[in-house]
Amino acid sequence: FYSMFAVKQETFLDDFDEPVKTLEKQLRAIKQLSQNFLMDERITDKIVKTAGYIRNHYVCEVGPGPGGITRSIINRRPKKLVVVEKDNRFLPTLELLKESCEGHVNVEIEIGDILTYNFERGFSEIPKHNWYEAPPPLHIIGNLPFSVSTYLIIKWLKEISLKTSAWAYGRTPLTLTFQKEVAERIVAPVTDKQRCRLSLMCQTWCHVEHRFTIPGKAFVPKPDVDVGVVTFYPRKYPLVNLQFDVVEKLLRTIFNMRQKYSLRGVENLFPEDLKSLLGKRLFMLADVDYTARPFEITNEEFARLCYAYKGKRLFMLADVDYTARPFEITNEEFARLCYAYKALCKE
Ligand code: SAM
Repeated sequence: FYSMFAVKQETFLDDFDEPVKTLEKQLRAIKQLSQNFLMDERITDKIVKTAGYIRNHYVCEVGPGPGGITRSIINRRPKKLVVVEKDNRFLPTLELLKESCEGHVNVEIEIGDILTYNFERGFSEIPKHNWYEAPPPLHIIGNLPFSVSTYLIIKWLKEISLKTSAWAYGRTPLTLTFQKEVAERIVAPVTDKQRCRLSLMCQTWCHVEHRFTIPGKAFVPKPDVDVGVVTFYPRKYPLVNLQFDVVEKLLRTIFNMRQKYSLRGVENLFPEDLKSLLGKRLFMLADVDYTARPFEITNEEFARLCYAYKGKRLFMLADVDYTARPFEITNEEFARLCYAYKALCKE
């Protein structure tokens, strides 16, 4: 493994105008690209073990770099492993790895950005599984730069909500690394000081678990922070079965004023002259205390707020009084509600 890393360092030499002579300089270059590598096989094995049973399954590894985690994946004999790496300087090392396991594991190297990687093309041989049955034999594993992993998980949560991309095959699980503090935010329960928009986003669509922490000193070069390994298992039934963007918008608005009553953020959803009235009504409709601060709202209460918000918008859009009892709604109002519903479903 260390010799593979040496190949990597040599390839770096080719890319700079001035030849990089010292290891220190090379490491600085790697650091600029947020590339922190795991060299300890016990840790790479532990990450892969955390992903669960992968023998004869399909795996997508994001950001393999010089291939530490890749090697641990290959040792577990998946049927097919696709590695998606943005930096083509890792190609020679990854090709060596691919050659070394030919006949045992089908390794495909994809030089490109995981943000645009097409899972439905890359794993087209996997039969699509019913969402409500056992997860498909596909796993996503990755140790990405922190900035990319947070952005990516939001993008993937949206795809989970739509059951597209890797989730067109079913409830594909993920094992990813994050800065430890971000990992803690992802799993933060109600009232936890780390509870934030990201916690609710992740927990709405997935069962999340912070499985273990890797000390920063295990990486080369050493980052300033420790790293948390988090598993995501998409829920059969999301806590809120509404469009991703509706949930995202409401969460962004509520958590905008973290230390204030939740009402303060929610009011911003409404026109200035009606915001206090409509804001309070929304909380009443959802049966949630509007004086609770955002991090004190449970997942279930948040789900009720989303449904109330969506439902209320339906009535606002249709220009129908939502406090009217069903038998008080006219035929015309009912027709407008139908059209409004259709419009909202398309959002
Ligand atoms: N997995 C290796 C390890 O644990 O030693 C490397 C980890 S390093 C933190 C992150 C890797 O992700 C780098 O190799 C980097 O080039 C790659 N990477 C960064 N952004 C990427 C992207 N958008 N798509 C694919 N790979 C990316």
